[in-house]
Amino acid sequence: MINYGIAFNIFSFYYIFVIILVVIKTMLETSLKVLEKIEEKGYIAYIVGGFVRDYILGIESEDVDIATNATPKQIMEIFDNSVLPNEEYGAVTLYVKNSRFEVTTFRKEIRYINNRKPIEIEYINDLLEDLKRRDFKMNTLCMNKNGEIIDLLDGRTDIEHKVINTVGNSNFKFQQDSLRILRAIRFATYLNFKLSEDVKEAIINNKEALKGLSYNRKKQELEKIFVSQNAKYGVELLLELGLDEPLELYNLEKINLKSDIIGIWASLEVSSGYPFTSNEKKIIQRVKEVVNSAITNISLYKYGLYVNQVAADIMGIDKLTVTKAYEMLPITSRKSIKISSETIMNTLKRKAGPYFKDIYNDLETKILEGKLNNNEKEIKNYILENYSKGD
Ligand code: ATP
Ligand code: MG
Repeated sequence: MINYGIAFNIFSFYYIFVIILVVIKTMLETSLKVLEKIEEKGYIAYIVGGFVRDYILGIESEDVDIATNATPKQIMEIFDNSVLPNEEYGAVTLYVKNSRFEVTTFRKEIRYINNRKPIEIEYINDLLEDLKRRDFKMNTLCMNKNGEIIDLLDGRTDIEHKVINTVGNSNFKFQQDSLRILRAIRFATYLNFKLSEDVKEAIINNKEALKGLSYNRKKQELEKIFVSQNAKYGVELLLELGLDEPLELYNLEKINLKSDIIGIWASLEVSSGYPFTSNEKKIIQRVKEVVNSAITNISLYKYGLYVNQVAADIMGIDKLTVTKAYEMLPITSRKSIKISSETIMNTLKRKAGPYFKDIYNDLETKILEGKLNNNEKEIKNYILENYSKGD
């Protein structure tokens, strides 16, 4: 008998695989055309970095990096739909056929500041020199306009061995720019590569410099690690190399990776320097409150389904149980309490007043705790018994 479930899975797996191949091929064709357009004007240009690395591995890239001897100004003259990002000096972003291209002029980075940004760069006319300033060997692979791969610094060997090595002296590379430490962990996680022993040692030697890296950058890189399918390995690397301390992640060993990114942060104790929007802060604080107490009708009513589901993930409680409990709530807002303000006034023979609030708070809790039915007659009796004398 044919197992249609398995047959369907094989079919859908094959289908997704074919789609990825088509996307990579289309992106490649567009990229080669971009190179041709630059070279037609007498410059040289290569695809470099992530796209070539991922192409060899059969992985889809989000964008394409191009290295050229044309200056940003010359690139902008060739492509009239280009924009110059303020953030990175000397790079032009192009959008061609829905693909994003980061075009950077060959350069030498002369001086670095605060273990991060180069404060002085010099445009050069030499691809090899440009490749030497890059972070990892696997990120130095290039492709020319004919689709041929150029491997001047032996990046392919690292890809074949699934290992990450820096270009040149590791200690120097991490000292120059501490962001590279997190990039190393991120790539290792995402590609499921090892860090060479040399890289590990250099990371340990330079990890304190992470304290000086902006919280924004740290958060961005950490989130890419945490949401990866292979996040567990990334967290193991962070712990093995002792990066949790300089990153001010105080209980990384307790991280809950099963949740979405908000749930992941909620399972961590981190420095207050990490930037979150006020809404994110509110959700994280509520999730923590639920995790530290319990999921009850009150927590479901007060904070809604999402916060409780995230808390359930962290607490190891089945989400379906929480959804069912939410659907069974006797009330979902104050409006669904089956007594009107008018009936309360008539029952107590009192005028409206601030005492209403206390009564409603009490009714809400009693109904949610299952101590009172949401039924007008019963609520009226309860109010008479508890609120008819005094204030
Ligand atoms: P992905 O785009 O998948 O994150 P990528 O390798 O393309 O990976 P980018 O941040 O797009 O990474 O950078 C493009 C290339 O620029 C890298 O491949 C690398 O050669 C170089 N590069 C980027 N950041 C650094 C850095 N901090 N130090 C040295 N080289 C870098
Ligand atoms: Mg890239």
